[in-house]
Amino acid sequence: MKTYVKKDSCIGCGSCTYIAENIFEIGEDGLAQVKENEEKVEVAEAEKENVQDAAESCPTGAIVVEE
Ligand code: SF4
Repeated sequence: MKTYVKKDSCIGCGSCTYIAENIFEIGEDGLAQVKENEEKVEVAEAEKENVQDAAESCPTGAIVVEE
């Protein structure tokens, strides 16, 4: 599983940074991003459920999950 944030859809609500705090953070631009990497990352097995929950909870559908 890979994930990334579509910054043009993110509104910076911060929800994903609580649900999947090991994966997402708010960047200097006030929008979410994958931690320490503004592009796509491979999600560790232990984080998959959190990332899925974050994607489903994102109000704008900005979190992309690819299998
Ligand atoms: Fe952005 Fe969605 Fe995360 Fe909110 S939950 S900060 S809109 S990616």
